[in-house]
Amino acid sequence: MNTLDPKRTITELKELRALTSDENGAQRVAFTPMWVKAREWYQKKLAGLPVEIHRDAAGNLWTTLIGASEKCLLIGGHIDSVPNGGWLDGCLNVMAGVEILRRINRQYGGKPPVTVRLVDWADEEGARFGKSLFGSSACSGNLDMNEARGLVDKQGIKLPDALKSVGIDFDRVKDSGIELKNAAAYLELHIEQGPVLLDLNLALGAVLGTFGVERHAITFHGQAAHSGSTPMNRRKDAFLAAAKMSLEIYRITERSSGTGVPPVSSKITERAGRPWHYGGVCTIGSCTTKPGIVTSVVEECRITLDQRHLDSAKLSRMLTEAKEASERFAKEGNVRVSWERLWQIAPRPFNDELIAMCDESIRETCGQSHRLPSGPLHDAAEVAAAGVPTVMMFVQSLHGISHNKIEDTKEEHLELCVVAFDKLAEKAMGWIQKQF
Ligand SMILES: [Zn+2]
Repeated sequence: MNTLDPKRTITELKELRALTSDENGAQRVAFTPMWVKAREWYQKKLAGLPVEIHRDAAGNLWTTLIGASEKCLLIGGHIDSVPNGGWLDGCLNVMAGVEILRRINRQYGGKPPVTVRLVDWADEEGARFGKSLFGSSACSGNLDMNEARGLVDKQGIKLPDALKSVGIDFDRVKDSGIELKNAAAYLELHIEQGPVLLDLNLALGAVLGTFGVERHAITFHGQAAHSGSTPMNRRKDAFLAAAKMSLEIYRITERSSGTGVPPVSSKITERAGRPWHYGGVCTIGSCTTKPGIVTSVVEECRITLDQRHLDSAKLSRMLTEAKEASERFAKEGNVRVSWERLWQIAPRPFNDELIAMCDESIRETCGQSHRLPSGPLHDAAEVAAAGVPTVMMFVQSLHGISHNKIEDTKEEHLELCVVAFDKLAEKAMGWIQKQF
């Protein structure tokens, strides 16, 4: 008997919104009293289920329904929000997970074929300390302890002290890795937070993985000179070279796009007539000039470049092309260029078989699916990095906007996503069973 009630998920999300938002939006910032309150509410929703609930060493909250096999299906989300956040980011995943847990519990009389675990990751957003994916990266082992130890919020409070105030010992956070023992699959539902599904007029999509990121500062070095007395052909204008980069990144991105087989490890074929389109993104997000006065040619111009792609070969090609272009423009303008790497992360492709199951669940629910990469990072990227087969499902975002109180999704789409995600959970349980 299928007792899934997607309308209940929407009602509960509205209840959470009423409890933890103000006129500016959701205020469930991790490790704050409002976050603690949201979690208390969440645990009340789990009362009545035959589950074990505990918090791990990093503050992630685990809910376990023990099954016939100790192999686990994990379903994850995050109840924390950015300040002035939306009503769906993160908590949709958690509350859909609760509804699915109820259905599984009912259908299998409290004993599903595999163990099912729901995880509410701690501080996915990183809103307070500027470092996302805290709980999941502690659990995956990727958290940089030295960097994290020094993080300070706007009030001057250090991360280890903030953790202590909610009973978490910073030095032990990586002990949470034990929770991934027996993890056989990880599923995460999320609002898209972008406009792709909206533009395609589709409710749901299967996520191929999270983009790899290359982030650099590029500095052009020219010569300051009087803006009145220096003829145009005698200038060493650092800004001119940087300005040419702003156009070039659009060409580089265009060349990195294509249609065809998605860049994951093995054969995924798209239905005839709808080739899968993929591409990267490049952003120059900041530009500073020296001396930065109205009467001088720019001596030094520093821009930042953020490049993202799901395909690591294409990502490094985009980077090479940007470097070559910067050198060409520097030469043309008689200036010098230097590069500095700010940050990088490898693409995290999701599991091919789970992607196919996700796609199938979506087709069964609403007829049409779409495969797309994720630009933002999610906890799922950390779980995938830890070697657990992973997939995410996206539901359309209205306005293509998130991290804002106007973040929204049509209620009919919310219902569809709970139904499709539940189908995926059932398929994944069968898939886990077959493996052991
Ligand atoms: Zn989120």
